[in-house]
Amino acid sequence: MSKKNDRTVSLNPCPFCGLLPEIVIGDDEGNVHSEEGYADDPWSGLSYMLAHHDPAWDCPIALHEGETYPTLFDTAQEAAEAWNRRSGVADD
Ligand SMILES: [Zn+2]
Repeated sequence: MSKKNDRTVSLNPCPFCGLLPEIVIGDDEGNVHSEEGYADDPWSGLSYMLAHHDPAWDCPIALHEGETYPTLFDTAQEAAEAWNRRSGVADD
């Protein structure tokens, strides 16, 4: 069982609102690249970011739609692990 390029990472629900965050693909400057296939041909670098949008705005750590937390991760797995232990997320 290889964990390399594992895109089926498990995320814990948000401790505040219970919604699941998203893992967003971006380049190495933190720009979101949601277009299909970018991860297979990451011409501007590849990073993974966390995003969490709560439509009801009940969650104190939720972001606006389309925004991501500032931390860049090398893999989706790292992003998920950071979320699950809540480091690099909402620590301001
Ligand atoms: Zn939340």
